[in-house]
Amino acid sequence: TKPMERKPEWLKIKLNTGDNFKEIKSMMRSKTLHTVCEEAKCPNIHECWANRTATFMILGDICTRACRFCAVNTGLPTELDLQEPERVADAALQMGLQHCVVTSVARDDLEDGGAMIFARTIQAIREKMPLCGVEVLIPDFLGREQSLITVLEAKPDILNHNIETVERMSDRVRSKAKYRRSLELLERSKRIAPGIPTKSSIMLGVGEEWDEILQTMDDLRAVDCNIMTIGQYLQPSPKHLDVKMYYTPEQFAILKTEGMKRGFKHVESGPLVRSSYHAHEQGKSVVES
Ligand code: SF4
Ligand code: SF4
Repeated sequence: TKPMERKPEWLKIKLNTGDNFKEIKSMMRSKTLHTVCEEAKCPNIHECWANRTATFMILGDICTRACRFCAVNTGLPTELDLQEPERVADAALQMGLQHCVVTSVARDDLEDGGAMIFARTIQAIREKMPLCGVEVLIPDFLGREQSLITVLEAKPDILNHNIETVERMSDRVRSKAKYRRSLELLERSKRIAPGIPTKSSIMLGVGEEWDEILQTMDDLRAVDCNIMTIGQYLQPSPKHLDVKMYYTPEQFAILKTEGMKRGFKHVESGPLVRSSYHAHEQGKSVVES
C-alpha cells in the first residue's frame, strides 16, 4: 500500500485540559522539572498526564546536540543540578506513578555524559517508591562503556536507547549519534546486565523504505533487543525535518506483526506511539513472559 501525503484524520488530537493536567503542570514548574511530554510536544500529553504518567527529562532542557526531528533547544548546557534526582523522586511520589520513565538531553559536555545523575535518579525513586518500575531512556554517551555500566549498576527495570531511524537515514536525521553505535550500546547492555530488558524506538515518515524498517527490526533482534516502539514522525516546527509520508494505522499493525514474528517480547506500533507510550504495559509484558 502506498503511504498518504497529507496529515490524516487519525493524527488529529483530542484536547483535554482537565484538572489533573493543570495540577501536574504546576507541580512540574514548582519543582523546576522538565518533561519530555512538554519539551518534545508529545501528542499524547493529555492522555498520559490525565492518567498520571509522565516522562522526566533530567540534566536540563538544553541539549548539546541538534537532531533534525527534535523540538528540544540546542545550546550551551546548564550546570549540573545535584538535587534533581530527589526532586524527580518527589514528583513521581506525588503523582503516584507505577512506572516512571527517566530520560535526558545529550550532555556531551560532561565527562560521564550524565550517567551518574541517571544512576542517582534511579536510586532516589527506588528509595521513595520501592514498587515503582523505573525505565531509563539514555543517550549514547558517545559510546563510553563506563557510563553505561554506571547506569546499569543502579539496576533500572528497562534500559531504553532509541535508534530513531533506519541506517541509511541516520546521518541526515540524528546529530552525532550513529546507527551502529546505538546497536553496540544495546548489545553491550545485554552483555553487562543480561537480566535487564532492552528497548528501542524508531519513528516513521522521514524518508525510509519499508524493507529498511524490517532490516532495522532484524538488526535490533540481532543484539537481543526485547521491546520495540514504532510511531509516526510529526514535524515540531517548520524549521524541522519535513514529514515525507504518513503511514496508515493498518501499516502500523502489519509492522507490529512483523516485529512479534521476529521475537520481540512487546511491540507498540501506531501513529501516535512514542517511546514512553504505554511504557507501563511494556514493562509488565516483559516481566510476565
Ligand atoms: Fe509523556 Fe511519553 Fe506520554 Fe508522550 S507518551 S506524553 S512523552 S509519557
Ligand atoms: Fe533531541 Fe537529539 Fe538532543 Fe536527544 S540528542 S534531546 S533527540 S536533540
